[in-house]
Amino acid sequence: VTRGAALHDELRRLVGDRGLAPVDDRRFWVDATESQGIEGTPAAVVLPADAEQVSAVVAWCHQHAVPIVPRGGGTGFAGGCVPTRGSIVLGLERMRIVHTFDPHLWRIKVDAGLTTAELRRLARENGLSFPPDPGAAEQSQIGGNIATDAGGPHALKYGTTGAWVMGVEAVLASGERIAAGGGVRKDVAGYDLTSLMTGSEGTLGIICAAWLRLIPAPEASRVVVVAYDDPAVGCAAVAEAIGSGLVLSALEFLDRGAITAAASFPFTLPTETGFLVIAEADGSVAEAEATVDEAAGILGKGAVLVHQPTTGAELTALWRWRDGVSGAVTAVRGGKVSDDIAVPVDRLAEAVAGTVAIGAEHCLEACSWGHAGDGNLHSTFLVDSRDKEQLERARRASSDLYDLALRLGGTISGEHGIGTLKRAYLDRQRSPQTLEAMRAIKRALDPDGTFNPGKSL
Ligand SMILES: Cc1cc2nc3c(=O)[nH]c(=O)nc-3n(C[C@H](O)[C@H](O)[C@H](O)COP(=O)(O)OP(=O)(O)OC[C@H]3O[C@@H](n4cnc5c(N)ncnc54)[C@H](O)[C@@H]3O)c2cc1C
Repeated sequence: VTRGAALHDELRRLVGDRGLAPVDDRRFWVDATESQGIEGTPAAVVLPADAEQVSAVVAWCHQHAVPIVPRGGGTGFAGGCVPTRGSIVLGLERMRIVHTFDPHLWRIKVDAGLTTAELRRLARENGLSFPPDPGAAEQSQIGGNIATDAGGPHALKYGTTGAWVMGVEAVLASGERIAAGGGVRKDVAGYDLTSLMTGSEGTLGIICAAWLRLIPAPEASRVVVVAYDDPAVGCAAVAEAIGSGLVLSALEFLDRGAITAAASFPFTLPTETGFLVIAEADGSVAEAEATVDEAAGILGKGAVLVHQPTTGAELTALWRWRDGVSGAVTAVRGGKVSDDIAVPVDRLAEAVAGTVAIGAEHCLEACSWGHAGDGNLHSTFLVDSRDKEQLERARRASSDLYDLALRLGGTISGEHGIGTLKRAYLDRQRSPQTLEAMRAIKRALDPDGTFNPGKSL
């Protein structure tokens, strides 16, 4: 296996000087799990300019048994793009071309390295919308969103990223390029390899470009913020709102610990607030207003505050604040071990209370927030990330949390994926036969384990 200067010389031959980044640039050592102390040192960092260069690098690495860790924006919460020993990092950040944009056909084909925010801006400027909205949109990339099938607040109405992908172009382990799906809205010619690549966490191939579906941007959105003193009352209201058949575009929650951490809330909250719900409806102005009024009626039962922000500035401030919750929670102790379990919506109250109880059992402060309408919680244990013993306790707490999620009929990962973090727990949720079917797919597409070793399976 080629290492050190020789490895760099070989890669430079394939991607040029601009296509190599210094290995001591710590940006490429970590993802959003950094505050849990997870990092790795790459053998090299390549930043190809196009799919042809990706293909050349992959073919060379495959021939020389050099493992590859694909990297998007590095915002993942599962350690998926963190380099494993001896791996090179292959980052897509230089590949940001918009290949085709047909606003009248509601479709776009972009390079995988385009950021979520750039894509959403482009769609918006043309009266369209790309609904998937995972946080950290200025950094996360379309390729990373597809590789993790990322969700976000609006997945409630619009589904996760995969629902908007019509096709992908990818490089397989041999260096060969494939096109799955394409620019048509319906296509069942052969196996659905687009869906196979979706959520594959960089273990089956490198996504270089994607055909995406867009929709006309909704005319308006309206929001209601509802506060409760008792989380159980708030969770029951959420379940009733979902059960009533109301089509909300987002239905988010924060528990008391998360509200306290993200203290700069843009409105004044009653001091007794122990649970907060943000509900959004979109559509025509009349539709959005009617839906949010109805939601306010259902969610308002037993609430201590029902507030409808009216101005655009208020709404922007609210969503900006919501985007900052994860960072604010990290800031409390300098670190956090944060999860993304999901449970049926009618078990949300048990998951919220269970998170705090598990934290207490391990002598850790705990809180949760997340996508209430999807039953998806960011259950979080607050730690000082320099304290190894605390981190160890938090990992044991996470293990208990996964058991809780499964007992409640849920999943150990609703949106961040398995990566390195949850690899040891996948067999609690998936049967040996199911895992073997997954491994058979991995063996078929990447028999030598070139892509993202030590991740997912
Ligand atoms: C503040 C914050 C809020 C977040 N909110 C949400 C949320 O609401 N919903 C949600 O689902 N997630 C959320 N996330 C997690 C993260 O944003 C998403 O998982 C995001 O989609 C990851 O994209 P990325 O480009 O940063 O991928 P990375 O972190 O770079 O990579 C993630 C995985 O995808 C693989 N990968 C990346 N690019 C490619 C490619 N081109 N081809 C093949 N494999 C690739 C990597 O190997 C890795 O396994 C949040 C993260 C942060 C920091």
